[in-house]
Amino acid sequence: NLSDKLQRAFKSLRGQGKLTPENMEEALREIRLALLEADVNFKVVKEVVDRIQYKALGEDVMTALSPAEQVVKIVRDELIAILGKDTAKVKFASQPPTIILMAGLQGSGKTTTSGKLAHWLKNGGHRPMLVSVDVYRPAAREQLKVVAQAINAKLYEGKVEEANTDTVVRLAKEARREAISNGCNILIVDTAGRLHIDDQLMDEMQHLKTLLNPQEILFVADAMTGQDAVNSAKEFHDKLTLTGVVLTKMDGDARGGAALSIRQVTGQPIKFIGVGEKYDALEPFHPDRIVGRILGMGDVLSLIEKAEASIDKKKSEEFASKALSGDGFSLADFRDQLKQVKKLGSLQSIIGMLPRIGPFAGLQQVADKVDDKELSRVEAIINSMTPHEREHHDVINGSRRKRIANGSGTSVQEVNQLLRQYSQMRKMFKTMSKPSFAKRLSGMKM
Ligand code: GDP
Ligand code: MG
Repeated sequence: NLSDKLQRAFKSLRGQGKLTPENMEEALREIRLALLEADVNFKVVKEVVDRIQYKALGEDVMTALSPAEQVVKIVRDELIAILGKDTAKVKFASQPPTIILMAGLQGSGKTTTSGKLAHWLKNGGHRPMLVSVDVYRPAAREQLKVVAQAINAKLYEGKVEEANTDTVVRLAKEARREAISNGCNILIVDTAGRLHIDDQLMDEMQHLKTLLNPQEILFVADAMTGQDAVNSAKEFHDKLTLTGVVLTKMDGDARGGAALSIRQVTGQPIKFIGVGEKYDALEPFHPDRIVGRILGMGDVLSLIEKAEASIDKKKSEEFASKALSGDGFSLADFRDQLKQVKKLGSLQSIIGMLPRIGPFAGLQQVADKVDDKELSRVEAIINSMTPHEREHHDVINGSRRKRIANGSGTSVQEVNQLLRQYSQMRKMFKTMSKPSFAKRLSGMKM
């Protein structure tokens, strides 16, 4: 953990003097290493470290914060400043349709993200239309069709006779016309990728840009590919002038350094992150969360503080040992845990403080489904169960579900949903109890 390392680097400095090149040296080395480890591009690391040094030198060592905390704060603030404080928005055309051109290498997640974006925009009350101009691989166009059907979004299919740039341009033109005549206010254009950048691909993208004059050219990058994503972002930006970036596969073990590098190299904001394969696994980008992840801290510290302040410590220890023992986590524990969470405040805000890696990503999905309003209903349902049912969820068959629904003033569907969420959480805790989880957790350097 960077914090600990800095603490060590500054162990003799608390409350005395200023930060100097000499006493900063070791700290800067730790910062450099932490950034490199998080997959930040080495050129970017150099720039960032120089700036941090410039800011930190000559600052009085505050008495309220230890020098290490002080430097961590400078690093945090600096990284957030690079990433941009605000969550970026999609730019809309004054005259619809708004056109969003998706760019990126093959397998980066363009088609999936096109669908997620359409889904997200639909939820925001928009009428998006999708079109794939990836004419080189029939399967790619079929893939978008499946996506469009799944999220119930409009799709312009068109006909492809020859796989060439003329066809690509024609499809795009037709799709725009079709969007207008269908009253769709947004057209999302999914494009062909390549394994590597080549001139033909770039020419085609430039053609599309000139023809469509898109409000957004979003570069879709696979966060797991680290430096490669950074290099291709730069090439795409040089040729096309990107307007934003979507970083996909952030649900994996990617350390998030690519976000920082791409932002620094292109100057364009990260607008969304992809956090799963499902259509709702797209989130507006929050710089502070990524910075926490880069520095390997999450906001775990503040979460722990908050939790310690309001959770009954003994109860939660009991819970933890039960949950992690695998099968011991009953519906009654589930209910008690929700009660604790209620005391803590909004479930969403708590989950928001955790790094979204590994099993925590799963926790997010559970939390999305259990909103705070639902908590009391969940309690009512579990209260309507017999103690035996609470300890042995397997016995809750159809007729018992009906009885429980009646008793709690809810529906069978709601009872089913709760049982599903409970199983999901059980499964998650089981994962957490495996040794491999502990290993990954220590790899996360919280
Ligand atoms: P394209 O070639 O750029 O169109 O990429 P696709 O949209 O076909 O995605 C390639 C693979 O990455 C597919 O298996 C997707 O399910 C997967 N994928 C895309 N985005 C995400 C994400 O945010 N998380 C995860 N885990 N997988 C993703
Ligand atoms: Mg595709």
